[in-house]
Amino acid sequence: MKIIAIDNILCIKCRDCVEECPENLFYSPPTKIGEKRKVFFEDPNNKCTFCGQCIDICPTKAIQFQIKD
Ligand code: SF4
Ligand code: SF4
Repeated sequence: MKIIAIDNILCIKCRDCVEECPENLFYSPPTKIGEKRKVFFEDPNNKCTFCGQCIDICPTKAIQFQIKD
């Protein structure tokens, strides 16, 4: 399995993935009042262990992943 990206249309910016990922691969920078939240996924050092916790916790199925053979 490989995490590809966050679908920004489905994502409600709840930050559950940010809290849940044991490898801290999701982040959400602080925003000013009135500014829209953003949530990013980055794994430049291939730290993802494919545990699936982010996919399980995301309430809107916004985390896109690919199942490898
Ligand atoms: S599968 Fe696990 S390690 Fe990989 S991004 Fe999701 S929560 Fe983090
Ligand atoms: S858990 Fe899902 S809806 Fe919530 S911030 Fe992460 S990707 Fe977006």
